[in-house]
Amino acid sequence: MVQRIVETSDPAGTESLGAELAAGLRDGDVVLVQGELGSGKTTLVRGAARALGVTGPVTSPTFSIGHRYRASRVTVSHLDLYRLGGLEHEDPALLADYLGPGRIAFVEWPSEDESELSNARLRVVLSHRGGDRRRIELGEDPLTDGDRGRTGDSDGGGGQR
Ligand code: ADP
Ligand code: MG
Repeated sequence: MVQRIVETSDPAGTESLGAELAAGLRDGDVVLVQGELGSGKTTLVRGAARALGVTGPVTSPTFSIGHRYRASRVTVSHLDLYRLGGLEHEDPALLADYLGPGRIAFVEWPSEDESELSNARLRVVLSHRGGDRRRIELGEDPLTDGDRGRTGDSDGGGGQR
């Protein structure tokens, strides 16, 4: 369900939005970040990571599926699954290092059928609007619609997470 649509006109605007959404995140949360190349996924994650207390550079993972940054209260995980295509042929332990208690995870390019990501709390979808403008959709409870092998709590009525 899309809850909010924002347009930003520069990278700083997208970072600020990332910071804003980070303020509502809790230990263990997963945020899915979708959108074409260059739409600002990493920029948004950078803003969020900064707000969570990450001080070093926040860049796209290149040689691994993700980075983990120590922040004050949690570890901020930043995954980019672009090159992976899907996780079905991967060792489940691959994701385990990045998700779960003590972590807040941002996942770029999640494919729709990752069961490991089915309990994500937020989905962000970015798209190009010409020049430096980006359209950013923020939605909650991303993967409960359609057939994900889960039943029940599509209205957020207290289902197990
Ligand atoms: P992605 O991770 O989606 O591939 P990046 O965040 O790495 O995208 O790159 C986005 C690029 O677009 C950066 O070079 C950034 O400076 C530029 N940019 C221009 N305008 C914006 C904007 N409004 N929001 C985010 N990035 C922007
Ligand atoms: Mg990126």
